[in-house]
Amino acid sequence: NQSDRSLAYFEIITNLEPIPNADAIEVATILGWKVIVKKGLYKVNDMVVYVEIDSVLPPWEYFVNDGLDKRNFKIKTIKLRGQISAGYCIPIKELIKHPNKVLEFVYHADQEQQNDIGSIKQIIDKSDNDKIIQLQVGIDLTQFIGITKVVDFVYQPRGGNRVRSPNMNLVPFPGFIKKTDQTRIQNLSRFISQYNDVEFEVTEKLEGSSITAYHYKGKTGICSRNFQLVEYSHQMETSLIQDLDILEKLKNLNENIALQGEIIGPSIQGNIYNLQKSMYRVFDIWLIEKQRYASHQERVDLLEKLGLPWQKHGVPVFNNSFKFDSNMTVDSLLKLADGHTILKESRVKVLREGLVFKSKSLIGNSDNQHIISFKVISNEYLIKKNK
Ligand code: ATP
Ligand code: MN
Ligand code: MN
Repeated sequence: NQSDRSLAYFEIITNLEPIPNADAIEVATILGWKVIVKKGLYKVNDMVVYVEIDSVLPPWEYFVNDGLDKRNFKIKTIKLRGQISAGYCIPIKELIKHPNKVLEFVYHADQEQQNDIGSIKQIIDKSDNDKIIQLQVGIDLTQFIGITKVVDFVYQPRGGNRVRSPNMNLVPFPGFIKKTDQTRIQNLSRFISQYNDVEFEVTEKLEGSSITAYHYKGKTGICSRNFQLVEYSHQMETSLIQDLDILEKLKNLNENIALQGEIIGPSIQGNIYNLQKSMYRVFDIWLIEKQRYASHQERVDLLEKLGLPWQKHGVPVFNNSFKFDSNMTVDSLLKLADGHTILKESRVKVLREGLVFKSKSLIGNSDNQHIISFKVISNEYLIKKNK
């Protein structure tokens, strides 16, 4: 289960705070992430290996000392002594204990060796032709450490297994459409101050499966997250699009666009809304010729023309005009994400997965106009799900 996401990288600890009534642990800030660490192990400004949630670490001697099962070391969002912890920190020097690698650490000769981490200049991976790993913020270590992404069996989308079945006719996802994805706000903490003048639309992040329906130069198609779907083998996914007559409508409109939305309902991601019937909710439109997402107004207009009005066929709108105030932080956005679903059709009062923020208009200079967007996953939701 190789991940396309960078799950581990060098980062700086920017803050350390005590946790009330806990003397063996403290909380570190890394980007917008809060992580519980062993007290005294790190100082502010130390560089560490930061491992994101959803990571599965390989068996590794160092972790035995944490009292954790080394065969099943999954990194999740947890709450300990009232403190949220998302991710895991590894001291850089511990990389040397990697079971499958012979590493050599090169130290700064001229630097005072106040601590081991601060004096390490580079790591040489002897198991990979003396490959040099620079100690630099952001250097991806996912492959190097051998981290895989957690497979969540309870929430595995229905198509999950069938997609891997060899007798399925799978066509690759079209290259002219962007795959649906959202960056986590915790990884954007450095940019948050630049969002002050931006008007955002905030929608609820629905817990389902991504479906893209497109029209391009007279051809139409339906895709899941990573593949183009063949109708007869993906009845559940494709029938929803057919019920709404989306491909016909796209053909008639004759624009080169891709509708991207979430299907939710029975047998999809645990059907957290307890729906009796599946439904499709649009969250974006990709403009194929322009190779960018539609702005809020462009999306509203296109959906109107398609006879699929945004108010009815879009994802639930949490706030149609959201502006950051000057003291907005990752933490305050995470607080905002906590709460119950606002999906009208939900038959249960269930915690929402989170929110997605999108700039309402295009950002950037004339040759690189784009929509900025990110997701804020609710910690409350994650903690409940991980229980
Ligand atoms: P990660 O990359 O963090 O491991 P992931 O790639 O599986 O996770 P998700 O966490 O599910 O992605 O978040 C992105 C997905 O959220 C999109 O692909 C889309 O299907 C879904 N989604 C649900 N609701 C919305 C919404 N309101 N706006 C945008 N995307 C949404
Ligand atoms: Mn992703
Ligand atoms: Mn999802």
